[in-house]
Amino acid sequence: MSALLPALAAASDRPALRFGADTLTYRELAGAAGALAERIRDAGRVAVWATPTAETAVAVVAALLAGVPAVPLNPRIGSRELVHILDDSRPGMLLAGGRDLPPEAAVLPRIDVDVRAAGRPARPAAEDPESPALIVYTSGTTGPPKGVVLSRRAVAASLDTLEEAWKWTGDDVLVHALPLFHVHGLILGILGPLRRGGEVRHLGAFSVEGVAKELGDGGGTMLFGVPTMYHRIAEALPHDPALVRALAGARLLVSGSAALPVHDHERITAATERTVIERYGMTETLMNTSVPVGSPPRPGSVGPPLRGVELRLAEEDGSVLDARDGETVGEIQVKGPNLFTAYLNRPDATAAAFTDDGWFRTGDMAVREADGYLRIVGRKATDLIKSGGYKIGAGEIENALLEHPGVREAAVTGEPDPDLGERIVAWVVPADPARPPAPEALAAHVATLLAPHKRPREVRFLPELPRNDMGKILKKALPGTPDA
Ligand code: ATP
Ligand code: MG
Repeated sequence: MSALLPALAAASDRPALRFGADTLTYRELAGAAGALAERIRDAGRVAVWATPTAETAVAVVAALLAGVPAVPLNPRIGSRELVHILDDSRPGMLLAGGRDLPPEAAVLPRIDVDVRAAGRPARPAAEDPESPALIVYTSGTTGPPKGVVLSRRAVAASLDTLEEAWKWTGDDVLVHALPLFHVHGLILGILGPLRRGGEVRHLGAFSVEGVAKELGDGGGTMLFGVPTMYHRIAEALPHDPALVRALAGARLLVSGSAALPVHDHERITAATERTVIERYGMTETLMNTSVPVGSPPRPGSVGPPLRGVELRLAEEDGSVLDARDGETVGEIQVKGPNLFTAYLNRPDATAAAFTDDGWFRTGDMAVREADGYLRIVGRKATDLIKSGGYKIGAGEIENALLEHPGVREAAVTGEPDPDLGERIVAWVVPADPARPPAPEALAAHVATLLAPHKRPREVRFLPELPRNDMGKILKKALPGTPDA
């Protein structure tokens, strides 16, 4: 254990976790997690009802102490998905925080996590770095969520490389408002600070007011967010001087889990003189790239590969793409100590995810600039549009649309077209529902910013876009698409 969370062993009186009025020092966390670890040593695997609470953090730390893989569950999960995940992961026990659980979950032996229990700091479990630390389900953006087996080695390797890239120390105080059942909120947001002896302040739910209060003068040094949060921040900044001060006073603002729209990034930088550090990762690989701390703003870029991560772009036929022209699109493939072990119970999917020479196919498409920085243009499955002989990433068209004052949200898809192969369709949430912009005006706007062949041929207005709990746009749930 000491290898994964060394700061826990020191059991100091420094603050570790704050969830509302619930605060735990390192000593208290080590005691509560140590007591729980003793009770779950023989569980095989434990599911954790991952509400945004101290109970969840204690449960996951206890599982790491006990050497028992933890399966974090989204507490807002639908019953079909819950049954699928429980059948797939077969936990021996469920750790929850005294809450009512749906009947599908209530069948498991349950322990109510007591964050005030005072056990002895646990005897560390065997430290095989290849043993599974967590089984995390993917966000389900492109299909049913897959269980990703993450070893202690992968978690430690990814956190170490982020520590270096982000100059992350035990003096950092993370302002946290993400859910705790994915890599972003749990591994980066909870285990990251705990690994170094830093502090987590969780807002329970994201609010602009909470960020304004906790960041900067409130003591918070870093904010980890998803693009929907930064969008709300960007909207609020012009009339919220306290929020401007809070962001300007933070050491590090990080965005990930989906592409940060260029327009939002630019508005935040203009108002606060701070740049948002964008990083790119996934459940299977943990973190792959990050814009370096202290570098000039580069909206739309996720930066170069992190130390220790090998990254290449590949053509559709599998050949390696050497281009560094900022234009030629290829699939991102990665190798490194940050990679997952396997998809749970899915040897075929695991094998299919790797090339013959052992590179993981991310399914994400990007272009590379001359200095090695990557710009993600979208996912192979949903965001790559083949139109009129061009390969076009949905992301750049979405960014262009978002710069139009009449557009609040935008998603771009391709649909079969007899002439073009695929035709570009824009799904737009208008800024003013009573006065949506003219489709021709939007097409002309895109054609001037990008190139004429990237203009949408059709615009469809919606009151909102379908999104998952991480705020990711669910393109397959757009009305009229095959899976909707
Ligand atoms: P599923 O695999 O179930 O379809 P998912 O891919 O959304 O869902 P995650 O592993 O949570 O599940 O998300 C990883 C994906 O999120 C990446 O493959 C990438 O498409 C996207 N992503 C993460 N960070 C960024 C970023 N900074 N910019 C653009 N996309 C990002
Ligand atoms: Mg995925």
